[in-house]
Amino acid sequence: MTTAPARPNRAALAGLGDVLWKVAAAVTTPVLPREYLDLIDPLRSGADLRGRVLDVRPETADAATVVIRPGRGWLGHIPGQYIRIGVEIDGVRNWRTYSLTSPVDAPDGTIAITVKAIPDGVVSQHIVRRLQPGTLIMLDQATGDFVLPAATPTKALFLTAGSGITPVMGMLRNRPADLTDAVMLHSAPRPQDVIFANDLADLADTGAITLHRRHTDDEGMLDLAELDSVVPDWREREVWVCGPTGLLDAAEAHWAAAGLSERLHVERFRPKIAVTGEGGTVTFTTSDVVVEAAGDEMLLDVGEENGVLMPSGCRMGICFGCVSTLTEGSVRDLRTGELTTVVDDTPVTFQPCVQAAAGDCRIER
Ligand SMILES: Cc1cc2nc3c(=O)[nH]c(=O)nc-3n(C[C@H](O)[C@H](O)[C@H](O)COP(=O)(O)OP(=O)(O)OC[C@H]3O[C@@H](n4cnc5c(N)ncnc54)[C@H](O)[C@@H]3O)c2cc1C
Repeated sequence: MTTAPARPNRAALAGLGDVLWKVAAAVTTPVLPREYLDLIDPLRSGADLRGRVLDVRPETADAATVVIRPGRGWLGHIPGQYIRIGVEIDGVRNWRTYSLTSPVDAPDGTIAITVKAIPDGVVSQHIVRRLQPGTLIMLDQATGDFVLPAATPTKALFLTAGSGITPVMGMLRNRPADLTDAVMLHSAPRPQDVIFANDLADLADTGAITLHRRHTDDEGMLDLAELDSVVPDWREREVWVCGPTGLLDAAEAHWAAAGLSERLHVERFRPKIAVTGEGGTVTFTTSDVVVEAAGDEMLLDVGEENGVLMPSGCRMGICFGCVSTLTEGSVRDLRTGELTTVVDDTPVTFQPCVQAAAGDCRIER
């Protein structure tokens, strides 16, 4: 009589796995086995999500598209969404947010972001001027609701300026076939500043969009009252707007005045500031740093400017990547004016990327 070999039981296998992992940890100490695996295959599934920069392609003198091979944990994106990326600069990992500009189904599995270098911008200058192919960066999964709806609108208007073209280019590169009546109105200071100028021209040539370009150095800033002549049926269109704060605020007011706010989709790259705080003496308790902070200065900036390393993400209060603990005093949300105060010595959390000191306060960093 033959006896069937005993099936290994799951608990025993898991236990064996634990033992092997502990042996590996003992062998590789002080480096964790996971860190060794990261060195060998940093893009493997199960690792923290990373991406390898494959190419940095200039778009204009100030803007570049970064082509990235994401790790195997990448879940894909919906056109118009953005990602957070973590880039090491002088030994410090800086997180920023960028819209995806690539096709969702690139045959080689790559994704792309397009970055405009802003004056004194820590990360954007680094990406556009110094980032090298081969560099590993940290990634987060895509998120955001500045996307086309599942039911494609019959008539669309894309109103963009400067780097605000990026999420819209993400949509246009992936546009549904039934988006047949799309008007795009894009502003940039000069012809040579137009990001994706050739792509826009191609889309216009094939009839995919009706394109209006405005060069503001010569023609002045767009006044939305001009829409009546440039896009006479603008009231009938679903509209996506992205660009500098002035354009976005004007668009919100314009569509609200027309009673059409529900047609308007806005993507902001920076928070909309409504109030200022009171300012005060800020103590970063762990770092032992004490500074005077102005009432209109986000506490994340105050920390970074004074050498206090703080986690960060979108820098506009949407990703909660910077949440920190306030142990004394008050801070004010500059978007809403809302005050967060420590009562009875009970620490509270707050978002330093959108909150400023409202009097003296102590932050656990
Ligand atoms: C949802 C979302 C999507 C985004 N998509 C893109 C994108 O596709 N392409 C892109 O280039 N950027 C995009 N951004 C902006 C980007 O995340 C960074 O804010 C920008 O690159 C500046 O970072 P920095 O480190 O260079 O500047 P910082 O060093 O953080 O700031 C330097 C100075 O510039 C000011 N500043 C910060 N951001 C801006 C800004 N956007 N415009 C003008 N002044 C600013 C700061 O107040 C500060 O005074 C997006 C932001 C969000 C929230």
